[in-house]
Amino acid sequence: MDILTKKVKGAEDILPADSYKWQFVEDLMREEALNSGFREIRTPVFEHTVLFNRSVGETTDVVQKEMYTFDTKGGESITLRPEGTAGAARAYLEHAIYSDGLPVKVFYQLTCYRYEKAQAGRQREFHQFGMETYGAADAKADAEMICAANSIFERLGLEDIRLELNSIGCKDCRKDYTNALKAYFSDNKEKLCDTCLSRLERNPMRILDCKNESCKQVAANAPVVLDYICPDCSAHFEKVKTFLDAADVEYTVNPTIVRGLDYYTRTVFEFVTDSIGAQGTVCGGGRYDGLIEELGGQPTPALGFAMGIERLMLVMKAQGIELPEPEKCDIYIAPLGDAAEKKAFELLWELRRSSFIAETDIVGRGLRAQMKYANKIGAKYSMVIGDDDLNAGTAKLKNMETGETVDVPLDENFTEAFSDITLQSEKGMLMDLLGSDNMDILRDIIGKTNDGE
Ligand code: ATP
Ligand code: MG
Repeated sequence: MDILTKKVKGAEDILPADSYKWQFVEDLMREEALNSGFREIRTPVFEHTVLFNRSVGETTDVVQKEMYTFDTKGGESITLRPEGTAGAARAYLEHAIYSDGLPVKVFYQLTCYRYEKAQAGRQREFHQFGMETYGAADAKADAEMICAANSIFERLGLEDIRLELNSIGCKDCRKDYTNALKAYFSDNKEKLCDTCLSRLERNPMRILDCKNESCKQVAANAPVVLDYICPDCSAHFEKVKTFLDAADVEYTVNPTIVRGLDYYTRTVFEFVTDSIGAQGTVCGGGRYDGLIEELGGQPTPALGFAMGIERLMLVMKAQGIELPEPEKCDIYIAPLGDAAEKKAFELLWELRRSSFIAETDIVGRGLRAQMKYANKIGAKYSMVIGDDDLNAGTAKLKNMETGETVDVPLDENFTEAFSDITLQSEKGMLMDLLGSDNMDILRDIIGKTNDGE
């Protein structure tokens, strides 16, 4: 196939017929974040490569294998963001957002780029929604984060997504654990992949996250981090669980979760589903109290999560969740002749300024073809304007569902008249819905929405 009309491997188009689903999900996420006091942050699609090396971590899969890194014409090394945490943290420091007072709570919706083997739920360009909190060390902040993610899944009506929780301790209490892991994996060196062999010295915990079958088998019997965490970290973990219980959010503790970033501390979590095959982690996050300091800032507790929207879409599809379709056209205006075309265009924009979805012909179709088109787009009303109508100063507005017509003025009162008609028809629908037994309720509703009329 001609490369001109073929998208790059691992990237996907979101087509007009599907985009409403994305908008719905994105709106819901935005609302959830805003309701919890988070403000949106938008950062560039590329950053200096060193930012990701430092924050995501040199020993991670992302940095070692997956980044889109290139030199610019000016000789700078630039990387397309593989995730959203690094850019947000960089902006937090660069613009001293902390000086507005702590905690700082932000969310993002963005595309990410990772050079991976493309398959269902794993793309090279994909979308993430994420939330970040800076300056909150309390376990309540962890619980707030987790509950917000959980609430998004709940509001989307998703079942069969479970929350798996773990604590990987702080830098100090992790020393003993790291030593225990080193000893264990050193005894099983021959079963580890090359990447994991290189991790053995620098960051043996990464081995627990390896997707290689043989490494996974060895990892299954490795020492468990929860046996090594210090009393403070243990108390923090207990407190997170208490607040999750208080918010009625269910979880299971899974000691094998370590997450992909190097600077995670204490709480780590994933939301996992079995309904979309192997790429079942829909959301991952946790606390990274070392991150801001690692980027040159003051020691600042930080935490966050990111969810993969493509995977979320797959779960929704697998579970048969339908999202509300976009509003259909309110009115299609079909003009006949030059003068009517001008009038139609004038009315069209009056309607649109009043927030109606209005359409008219823009391709030069005849009347029959126009009406066919009005039907196709599901227009609720249509109106033909010819010379006679222009002379009379009125036209016939047709209810496309019932076929009923009513005369409407073609002057400055048109939009108001149309407004009234659509309102009456909504009342009629309400009346049908409620039946005559409920006239009082109906009067109440109409009274409230319509100034006591
Ligand atoms: P995985 O173990 O599946 O590779 P990850 O640990 O690399 O995931 P994170 O860096 O934690 O993923 O990213 C957060 C979320 O972003 C993941 O849980 C997933 O839903 C989504 N995600 C990550 N990589 C991809 C990808 N290549 N394509 C689509 N979604 C992705
Ligand atoms: Mg990955």
